Amino acid sequence: MVFIHVDIDKKYRNTINELLHLYFPGHKQTGDESAADVVLCIKVKKNFDGPEVWAELSGDRQHSERNNIKLPWLGDTDPVNETKRTVRLAILQLLETAVGETKGYWGTLTSVRPTKIVNRMLDKGWAKKTIKAVLHDHYALRYDKVQLLLDVTDSQRTILKNSSNNCVNLYIGIPFCPSRCTYCSFPAVAVGSHAKLVEHYLTALCEEVTSTLEAVQEHGLNVRTIYIGGGTPTVLNVGQLGRLLNTIDHHLNADVKEYTVEAGRPDTLEEEKLKLLKSWGVDRISINPQTLSGETLRKVGRLHTVDEFIKAYCSARQLNFDIINTDLIIGLPGENIDTVKYTLDRLEDLHPDNITVHTLALKKAAKMRQSKEEQWVDDKEIDKMVSFARRRIQEMGQQPYYMYRQKNTLGQLENVGYSLPGKESLYNILMIEERETVIGLGVGSGSKWVFNQELLDVTYNPKDITIYMERLPRLIREKIDKIAFLGGMINADKETQRH
Ligand code: SF4
Repeated sequence: MVFIHVDIDKKYRNTINELLHLYFPGHKQTGDESAADVVLCIKVKKNFDGPEVWAELSGDRQHSERNNIKLPWLGDTDPVNETKRTVRLAILQLLETAVGETKGYWGTLTSVRPTKIVNRMLDKGWAKKTIKAVLHDHYALRYDKVQLLLDVTDSQRTILKNSSNNCVNLYIGIPFCPSRCTYCSFPAVAVGSHAKLVEHYLTALCEEVTSTLEAVQEHGLNVRTIYIGGGTPTVLNVGQLGRLLNTIDHHLNADVKEYTVEAGRPDTLEEEKLKLLKSWGVDRISINPQTLSGETLRKVGRLHTVDEFIKAYCSARQLNFDIINTDLIIGLPGENIDTVKYTLDRLEDLHPDNITVHTLALKKAAKMRQSKEEQWVDDKEIDKMVSFARRRIQEMGQQPYYMYRQKNTLGQLENVGYSLPGKESLYNILMIEERETVIGLGVGSGSKWVFNQELLDVTYNPKDITIYMERLPRLIREKIDKIAFLGGMINADKETQRH
């Protein structure tokens, strides 16, 4: 174990933690300099023309590395954030020199939603050439990541321009699955032994849906998109699914522009359910193989076969869903670049409209993380696999249209949604970019309250099903208050514009 002593103003301390973990995985910080294996000293000066950072790293008394950088203010974020960014850049350069290796592929960018930064630059009218230079020089981003951000934001601009205060988007969560996949950290419950709980949960959820949609209507807001996710919503039986879809439909006050149901596990998708979804106006469906290697599917505890996926996919195609998405995970145990190639070759024959590529995340709550025998793909290999997937999917005519990053992914790599032109999911763009309100209903869901394209607040429902049901009356009251507040701001804004 490496002990590191960091001498830095406390307001910048948290900003460098991820970089230290990248270069010294599992290290511990110590307040005792004499007990430390590595000492890092950082001094920050805010000059009128830009932040300046001096950093020194010493491993022993004879050997130390120093770095001094000064950057101009860009004014793309506030000065505190710009200073933090310069601190990260100074540390990154120092660590690269000291260790003699570049680790991580996203430079100093630690944000979960890096496209938000680029979209804000584009909002300010910055030229793409300037954005490229800033991402490279100030964030130390690798060239392909710069290009990825520009490609994604290119696909989003028209949709973002048309976002509106009057529109909200609904996320509805079903926390049940047929079984637990070993890589999953989501608090989903295997449905088998919880039949009664499903009914009680559904009753609570329908109450939250009804009250929310009544408030949405009362305050003159329109629902633009609906996303029923999970868990596995299609684990509900036909009667339960029908009850939920009916409740939603009964209280809608406008034409919904996109209606997605995540049918994550193909083993839950009988034709009767697909027909039911179609009859209630669902037009986007996600059927997720994760991989087309049967051996891997068995290994990670997904109880479906490749053939079941193909059968469910073909049934959905025959029913003419507008958009079919398929999720993949890169880096599952035992897989390599050949498995990725095999999966994508087979997927190409099916012509999905969207392919969403996740990099495997090893979260604490995932059963897989506890496995001692498992050998994980190393950073260089996962980088090759993710880059290969990107090239291959682009060859199929799909472009990246939304992306985000998660903690603990292999190689700290990203998750990217690809789409055929014109088939991009509105919900995914609006939710990740936080440009329109998303109201989360059901256990563990988050609500993002947005006004004039700025995120005002984020609220969460409890992750535990029993606690969610107990707190339901309060959760509903709070949601109605938030909707009323949003409605009030819209009215006040209209008044101001009138005068
Ligand atoms: S289907 Fe999805 S939510 Fe359910 S256990 Fe598997 S990964 Fe988790």
